Amino acid sequence: MQMQRRKIIGMGAAGALSFFAALPARADSKEPLVVAASFDAMAELVKAMGGSLVRVETLIPPGAEPHDFTPTVKTTQLLRKASVLVVNGFGMEPWAKKIAAAAENPRLMLVTASEGAVPVKNADPDEIAEHGADDPHLWLSLSGAEIEAKNIAEALAKADPKNAEAYRMQFTLFKGKLHVLRTQYSARFKSAKRRFFVTGHAAFAYLCRDFNLEQKSVEGVFAEGEPTPKRLAQLAIQLKKAGVRTVFAEKLLSPAVSKTLAAEAGARVETIYTMESAEDGKNYLDRMKSNLEKIESALND
Ligand SMILES: [Zn+2]
Repeated sequence: MQMQRRKIIGMGAAGALSFFAALPARADSKEPLVVAASFDAMAELVKAMGGSLVRVETLIPPGAEPHDFTPTVKTTQLLRKASVLVVNGFGMEPWAKKIAAAAENPRLMLVTASEGAVPVKNADPDEIAEHGADDPHLWLSLSGAEIEAKNIAEALAKADPKNAEAYRMQFTLFKGKLHVLRTQYSARFKSAKRRFFVTGHAAFAYLCRDFNLEQKSVEGVFAEGEPTPKRLAQLAIQLKKAGVRTVFAEKLLSPAVSKTLAAEAGARVETIYTMESAEDGKNYLDRMKSNLEKIESALND
């Protein structure tokens, strides 16, 4: 009788263990939550919300062009280990749903960080045909970052409920910093000499919408399609007339086009961050501050 009882208790314990192991949750809750992020800006926003509670895997490798990424076997492997996949949306990662399904990971939660944001519409018919109706570069604006960070923090809270308060607290702190920058730069941009700046890749439509500015780009919204020599010459004339002395270039793109334009217009080339890949080891806010500072000086020089 006694022996039989012990046996039943023993079996019960073993049964309980296997029950927990079968749950689609992390095996060891002391391990950080594994979060996959499509490209660098998403990874940085996840880090800003999750800190040491998360381990972030960036799917698009450093230096790869995120507008033209094709997932590989490595992408699927990374997704097998992740609890959350964060993508930007607005046409940036058309491969996301398919690759998330291919990972066959029942725990994986797909999060679209731009959800709830009002998109800037692409105007060029070729771009619409190739990349969809929306401009994807939401993360490069302060208001966009706030929406994306909030969606990310809520997703982390859902995937890791015992740390939900910590994620929400991080979001509140981050939002405060974004608001300070928005107030500061609203005033500074308002009193600037001109309303537009010149950049290589038209990635700043959302930032311009926030601050009532205008971007003139050397290339299209997406990173492809170098301008014709005729278009470059037209731009150079415009810039000279407007007295523009700064042309922005990005790390990922060949800055050659921006350099050519700057030389023709008698301007200098300055680096701006698109956060589409890791840049100078800087986090999200550092790069955002740097962009705002440089845009301010470009509007005034
Ligand atoms: Zn881009």
